[in-house]
Amino acid sequence: MPIYAYRCRECGEQFESFRAMNDDDAEVACPKCGRKNPQRVFSPVYGSVSRGQPGNLRFPT
Ligand SMILES: [Zn+2]
Repeated sequence: MPIYAYRCRECGEQFESFRAMNDDDAEVACPKCGRKNPQRVFSPVYGSVSRGQPGNLRFPT
């Protein structure tokens, strides 16, 4: 399952979220302020978390 990176339109928080192909980006909520519909950031997040808190994601590394 792909991991997408997002940036909150409200507070600028960047975070990653597992998303299924048919999931709606508008339902993704910022873990910091809770605002939905973040901006998707296209970055290579496979296998690593470049910055910020991993949040509630748990990678079986
Ligand atoms: Zn936010």
